[in-house]
Amino acid sequence: MISCYSDSEIQMFDHETLRALQLIRFKKIVSQALKTEFYRTKLGSVGIKHSSDITSINDIQKIPFTTKEDLRDTYPYGLLAADKDDVVRMHASSGTTGKPTVIYQTQSDLDNWTNLTVRSLIATGCSHKDVFQNMMTYGLFTGGIGLHYGAEKLGMFVIPASSGNTKRQFMLMKDFQTTVVHATPSYMLHLFSEIEPLGFDLKDFKIKKAMIGAEPHSEEIRRKIEECFGIDAYNSYGLSEMNGPSVAFECEHKNGMHLWEDSYILEIVDKNNLTPLEDGNLGELVLTNLIRESTPIIRYRTRDLTKVIPGDCPCGRTARRIDRIFGRTDDMLIINGVNVFPSQIEEVIMKMPSIGNNYRIVIRKKGILDQLIIETEVNSEIIIDDTRKLYALRDRIKEELRASITISPQIEFHEPGRLPVQQGKAIRVVDER
Ligand code: ADP
Ligand code: ZN
Repeated sequence: MISCYSDSEIQMFDHETLRALQLIRFKKIVSQALKTEFYRTKLGSVGIKHSSDITSINDIQKIPFTTKEDLRDTYPYGLLAADKDDVVRMHASSGTTGKPTVIYQTQSDLDNWTNLTVRSLIATGCSHKDVFQNMMTYGLFTGGIGLHYGAEKLGMFVIPASSGNTKRQFMLMKDFQTTVVHATPSYMLHLFSEIEPLGFDLKDFKIKKAMIGAEPHSEEIRRKIEECFGIDAYNSYGLSEMNGPSVAFECEHKNGMHLWEDSYILEIVDKNNLTPLEDGNLGELVLTNLIRESTPIIRYRTRDLTKVIPGDCPCGRTARRIDRIFGRTDDMLIINGVNVFPSQIEEVIMKMPSIGNNYRIVIRKKGILDQLIIETEVNSEIIIDDTRKLYALRDRIKEELRASITISPQIEFHEPGRLPVQQGKAIRVVDER
């Protein structure tokens, strides 16, 4: 039935038709989910034993949430609802230690995701005439490879540059006349500051648009990127649990991100009591993937805070728009585009010999980049002015942190008892950005 509509028709579906499509797809996802023991228990606990027990899209509100911990607990194959032989790819979340959160895709799951990426790129005005330089990391992280396939399918000239190596990025941009780039907002600003020092000239570039995402950024940062390069920058939102990029994307109006509701069920819930909120209210984004049958994830608590922007978009697309992400309900830090949990840092430093009982993580801006400083007390066994020992300790911490979180921080040692202590819970993170 749906196959008789084109993708642009689906994007213009009226509210009622969109809900009808969601219901059809949701029932299919529920029957897939019931193939896993995890969801048989979860859905069974609210009396859903068969997809026919779902009669309205509102039935979703009966179902308990799925959390990141659930995904970790079911690692590696607990959420796989397809035959393993039909899986053609896996991805994993970028910010996790220990057990990652993994998702699987069959070829048809990948095709569905790719179609959303094509749609998202078209929404920003891209076409097959563009040269697309993808500066997001390729690999288990979904950011790079996710847009790559959509850009190819759209017929763009794709340069899979991946992240880093700024000089080479400039060379590619200049020599292949890149018109569209994809990067984190912090990398975009870093790039700008490196143009002259690396001997390039903005006049030699032909960039018109940037797709920016993967980390929180303000409207001011977007404006700065647009003004520096003289381009349009579009906010792109996604997370690996929901496939990756192209969950929500800005259209040419740049007034919030259309969350592709034919493919995802969008809910915003109160971050404290988890009850559904009306459009316009800030809360935690909860998502259900309707287009990935191999790894069904229902009512996933993203921990991202946003709101639905009420009203219609002048572009005519009916998928509701979410506002830029205001932050996360959990404590994850994003440092120069890399996701870090304070617990990952604690794990490394607290296992070191001679480290005292108190530490804090300070993040500040140095120029346009983020700088991570770890202030830690040393115990009285190590003499505070024994520089040789302290340098060795500092190097070891840096090395281990680089291995675990890929960032090499600045380390500051303090004598025992010198760092501030709170009355109640410790404040470990001082984010000065
Ligand atoms: P994880 O953070 O769990 O390792 P991902 O690497 O898939 O997983 O990152 C997804 C997260 O990145 C989102 O949940 C969100 O917090 C953040 N993110 C992605 N895109 C944006 C964006 N455009 N604005 C703000 N935050 C974003
Ligand atoms: Zn729009």
